[in-house]
Amino acid sequence: MYFSEVIGQEELKEKLVRMVKERRVGHAFLFLGKAGYGTLPLSLAFSQYLLCTDKGENDSCGKCSACIKSEKIIHPDINFSMPFNSNESNSNNKSDNFLSFWREQILEQPYFDLGDWNKKIGIERKQSIINVKESNNIIHKMSLKPYESHLKVMLIWSAEKMNRDASNKLLKLIEEPTKNTVIILIAEDKDQLLDTILSRTLLVSVPPIDELNLQNYIQKNLSIEELSAKKFSKLSEGDILQANHLINKEEEESIFFELMVKWMRACYEANVPKIYDWVEEISSSSNHRERQKRFLEYLLEIMREAIIRSYNPEKLKRFFNEEDAFLKKFSPFIFGDNIAEINELINQAHYHINRNAYAKIVFMDMSMQFANLLRAKNRTFVS
Ligand SMILES: [Zn+2]
Repeated sequence: MYFSEVIGQEELKEKLVRMVKERRVGHAFLFLGKAGYGTLPLSLAFSQYLLCTDKGENDSCGKCSACIKSEKIIHPDINFSMPFNSNESNSNNKSDNFLSFWREQILEQPYFDLGDWNKKIGIERKQSIINVKESNNIIHKMSLKPYESHLKVMLIWSAEKMNRDASNKLLKLIEEPTKNTVIILIAEDKDQLLDTILSRTLLVSVPPIDELNLQNYIQKNLSIEELSAKKFSKLSEGDILQANHLINKEEEESIFFELMVKWMRACYEANVPKIYDWVEEISSSSNHRERQKRFLEYLLEIMREAIIRSYNPEKLKRFFNEEDAFLKKFSPFIFGDNIAEINELINQAHYHINRNAYAKIVFMDMSMQFANLLRAKNRTFVS
């Protein structure tokens, strides 16, 4: 990876480049900051620059054999260690076994966090750690001479996932380094690292990405128009992963909004064929279980907003215009008498969907109850 591919962080890039040029590179670093600030891309660019045999003023050359291998994540002198799930059945696992996933992830998208990684290696619901066996593996690798470069680099990603034994083992390597080695720990939370590790590594504090660079990136790479890109850049506080999350959420919510309006109308009209069509739609394969759950969470939020609007219109949250117009008409139907039941209904449905209940039955049942609740008070809902 090149420094030029890292979003923003100009000051830090300059510092790192200068450090290499002035031959002041220590043997153990801690790149500290949120994953979405770019700790991993920065350390990848730094490693590539370290090994590049024809370094440019500000970046790696991109042409030497070291660059070509670094870019493909196959340089034999750039090693990686990352958390994985080591349960009884695969206690001999080491992070090398996950290298192909690792490579694939970086080449596809070098900005990712532990949640994304766990998903990638298929352990979404489990904990991943760096265990003591993995520490031994790291120590062994670092005891070997570099294969083709003057240096051997070890990147330990999500270093806070090292358990205590693993950390203590590794400490020795950091205290008594082998010649021509550079260890780069990458972490988000320094409180989870041993003090002794902190005191023996050079801290590279990675700050949030500056607003303008993040905005430009969002605008150009995610094809988002200027004003929205500016908004997302501000809201995500320098974290590209957070920006992605907000963008996806907004896209999804506008779909949820349409879905909800359609549903509430059908329920209010107690129009059974319309309700039936809607239930088919929400239960279709494009709306998988997780998405149905998010839809219900969205609905809960809208209901909450509707009740606030009924009683305390000043206390309103951010909603886009269409939602706002809908809420204005809809909130008279949500009142003290039915809000508790509506909430209960949504929570119950969420619970059942989560427990793998048959979506069509859950949503059909819910629609019938909604129809009763919305029509409990004789008001006209025109939309
Ligand atoms: Zn090069």
